[in-house]
Amino acid sequence: MAYDFDLYVIGAGSGGVRAARFAAGFGAKVAVAESRYLGGTCVNVGCVPKKLLVYGAHFAEDFEQASGFGWSLDEAQFDWATLIANKDREINRLNGIYRNLLVNSGVTLHEGHAKIVDPHQVEINGERFTARNILIATGGWPQIPEIPGHEHAISSNQAFFLKELPKRVLVVGGGYIAVEFAGIFHGLGAQTSLLYRGELFLRGFDGSVRKHLQEELTKRGMDLQFNADIERIDKQADGSLKVTLKDGRQLEADCVFYATGRRPMLDNLGLESTGVKLDKKGFVEVDELYQTAEPSILALGDVIGRVQLTPVALAEGMAVARRLFKPEQYRAVDYKMIPTAVFSLPNIGTVGLTEEEAREAGHDVQIFESRFRPMKLTLTECQERTLMKLVVDAKTDKVLGCHMVGPEAGEIVQGLAIALKAGATKRDFDETIGVHPTAAEEFVTMRTPVAG
Ligand code: FAD
Ligand code: NDP
Repeated sequence: MAYDFDLYVIGAGSGGVRAARFAAGFGAKVAVAESRYLGGTCVNVGCVPKKLLVYGAHFAEDFEQASGFGWSLDEAQFDWATLIANKDREINRLNGIYRNLLVNSGVTLHEGHAKIVDPHQVEINGERFTARNILIATGGWPQIPEIPGHEHAISSNQAFFLKELPKRVLVVGGGYIAVEFAGIFHGLGAQTSLLYRGELFLRGFDGSVRKHLQEELTKRGMDLQFNADIERIDKQADGSLKVTLKDGRQLEADCVFYATGRRPMLDNLGLESTGVKLDKKGFVEVDELYQTAEPSILALGDVIGRVQLTPVALAEGMAVARRLFKPEQYRAVDYKMIPTAVFSLPNIGTVGLTEEEAREAGHDVQIFESRFRPMKLTLTECQERTLMKLVVDAKTDKVLGCHMVGPEAGEIVQGLAIALKAGATKRDFDETIGVHPTAAEEFVTMRTPVAG
């Protein structure tokens, strides 16, 4: 049977665009449907605008520290509306770049909500198109628990477009988004509390990193409340929000921001007309080749719920395009040693195993840890300390994990990830000459284990 397209991609986000462009480049006839915004979550309501806001928030401490270097500034003023307008302009520019990327690579762009009609057919804007393969790359959506008054809360989707910076913000959650946005609001001057239901936020990150960030945020004056779970939210006559916790305490805020994870975006996608199966958490189930239970339908990125990071969606997109249209170049995505950063203030950068994971996996571990005051702060009042940590296998000398909390941790960890992927040993680290004077050189000068 002749199909309208070899590949019909639903979702022009990180993974969908990558798969569509490369598939078209390999000679396939490709269409991509997008219902909202070109570039998907990352470009519009994720990584990119988030990082711009983090940069914005960081200026607060730059101004504070400048006086130690002889600069005097009048009292700094911040205007949220300017930051948001400039951010929006940049995102519009990026949307245009994504449009050109798709069109110039020969991909047909359909703007609208796509629904799967049968395993080889998609409907969009009242028209139907057939395809040999359909790729579900529809991403995720913020998930807010349905407690009484949840409709008064916002998610990251709205936070990027608030008309004003709220005076008092409660951020709920203890993952990437909660920690990053708490830093943004706090840095920009809002009175910020972070409420997390467990003992300590950032579950799954290295224990030293979690503790260190807790100390640093507390030093900066952020209100961290752990073992805090919200029971209900009530809007008061003056528009402010009264938040009642399960332990009976009450808090007041102008904005309650939930960052409690993301669900797969499958709304009105038509999966019921296919054999596609979902896993226990509701994400699309795929095999190692991103194949769903329906032979002609594939899925990747956040909607499969493996690792919800843009570079992972990109790698999966590349793998799918190659597998379908350039099989001789196919390489499986390696999910080990994925480096990641949390753009909290200060940043976290991490790659490889945490100390806890290494011990649990039965490694005989050696831990190297360094905590120091970065040189840039020595002329300032700022008491921030940086943490660097190496988790090493005592038997093989292989470095299993690198973890950092401090300025530019994400930038530093990217290079270390290459070393770890190449199987670097602690001896390789020791024999590497440092770049002086940097913070990063500390990673090659830690000599004495703090724990074995
Ligand atoms: P998405 O980028 O979400 O794209 C899916 C697209 O499909 C969307 O454009 C959507 O509109 C479209 N769509 C959905 N359903 C349909 C339909 N039926 N028809 C047509 N179109 C449809 N990752 C990082 O690596 N670094 C970061 O710093 C980072 N920061 C983040 C900050 C925030 C606030 C958030 C929310 C996420 C962040 N992420 C970050 C995660 C990253 O954004 C995602 O992992 C990535 O965007 C996933 O790509 P994707 O292609 O799977 O889906
Ligand atoms: P995460 O899964 O990272 O964190 C969710 C947090 O919400 C956890 O602390 C979780 O607690 C808590 N939580 C979950 N359900 C509830 C509930 N019902 N009540 C109270 N708390 C709850 O999700 P995020 O929303 O922060 O981010 C989604 C994903 O996006 C991330 O996992 C990451 O993959 C990606 N991302 C990446 C970024 C980066 O690379 N810098 C930045 C932002 C997002 P518990 O731990 O107890 O389960």
